[in-house]
Amino acid sequence: MTERRRRLSRRERRRRRIRRKIQTWATRVSLFVVAVLLLSLLLRGAKLVRAAFQDGEEATSEALATGNGGDYVDAGYLDGAPLIVLDAGHGGSDPGTSADGTDEKDLNLKVTELLEEELTKAGARVYLTRSDDTEVELSERAAYANELEADLFVSIHCNYLENDASIQGMECYSLASSEEGALLAQSIADAAEARERITVHDTRTENYKVLRETKMTAVLVELGYMSNAAELELLRDESYQSLLAEAIAGGIATYLAD
Ligand SMILES: [Zn+2]
Repeated sequence: MTERRRRLSRRERRRRRIRRKIQTWATRVSLFVVAVLLLSLLLRGAKLVRAAFQDGEEATSEALATGNGGDYVDAGYLDGAPLIVLDAGHGGSDPGTSADGTDEKDLNLKVTELLEEELTKAGARVYLTRSDDTEVELSERAAYANELEADLFVSIHCNYLENDASIQGMECYSLASSEEGALLAQSIADAAEARERITVHDTRTENYKVLRETKMTAVLVELGYMSNAAELELLRDESYQSLLAEAIAGGIATYLAD
């Protein structure tokens, strides 16, 4: 009886010792978890504070630069906040070219707005010759950019070829007399070519009115051929429109950095 009790109590002691050990470990583990949680909260807080501070700073400088209070979040990569006029081709009663129920004017405006977003994010001051479905004369578009004394003028269009539906790809045009225009056109074509989904057809010179009448470096980008069924599908696709905007913005940034 005594022997049994002693054995029991020994067993009991051991059980208690183990329980104490477990409790100590549990305390240590929970303390560790709490410490990790606190640390991550602290780091997150610091990050949020820093982000809020940077946003405020950028929004302020953007507001000072353009008077419209920017909302971009990324650090700018375009030094000196270049002034860029974007020109969405056609509009209003002038649909441009049309294919399968899609008007060129709408695709032009969509990509122009996405490009505006990209360039504003990058730190440029961006103005549009039209931001809705209205008709603007070609001379007015050029005059607007001249009045603003823009650094760059980028006109956005889509192509159509009557007799050959197999032709596809982006084309970048500049004025024959403009060396800078040719460099910008090539830079945009190169940036587009670097994107796997985008086909580039050609880079050439053309005597377009908006290129002729603008006093700054100017290019006209034909995003693709609406007469090519596959490319028309791409041009209507939102992710492709974003990719085009990204590529053109990248080409502009590279040109400005060189
Ligand atoms: Zn057009």
